[in-house]
Amino acid sequence: MPSYVNPEKCDGCKALDKTACQYICPNDLMVLDKEKMKAFNQDVMMCWECYNCVKICPTQAIEIRGYADFVPMGAQVTPLRSTDSIMWTVKFRNGMLKRFKFPIRTTAEGSAAPGGGFETKGDINSTALFTEPASTGMAEVFTLNK
Ligand code: SF4
Ligand code: SF4
Repeated sequence: MPSYVNPEKCDGCKALDKTACQYICPNDLMVLDKEKMKAFNQDVMMCWECYNCVKICPTQAIEIRGYADFVPMGAQVTPLRSTDSIMWTVKFRNGMLKRFKFPIRTTAEGSAAPGGGFETKGDINSTALFTEPASTGMAEVFTLNK
């Protein structure tokens, strides 16, 4: 089941230029009905169920099916993000509620060093990853001879 917006919880991100769900969706699926100030998924067949919009929505207005590999069929999962953790509330079919809290970062918000502190190179045509060779501990990036 693709994501869907519960209109009773959606506040249209309080009329910001671009809503959080519009900003985050890799498929540009979310649109805002500016008259009603409610967002909706404009093409559910294209939804990857990637959970990005679900996790970023500040009002927990977006719902999506919980995959069978982490909750039993029919359960609802709702995330609540904070600056250092995410809390998942799972509501099972029998009404039982369980909450799981996980850390989501190892550094304070806004303090992560670009490239993890490794020397970075900006050559977009290079076959090396942008922190290589520094992040591999090697002096140079090795390639296969052709
Ligand atoms: S992020 Fe949530 S509150 Fe904001 S527009 Fe989308 S569904 Fe509505
Ligand atoms: S689940 Fe992912 S692909 Fe689907 S609408 Fe949300 S952000 Fe877009």
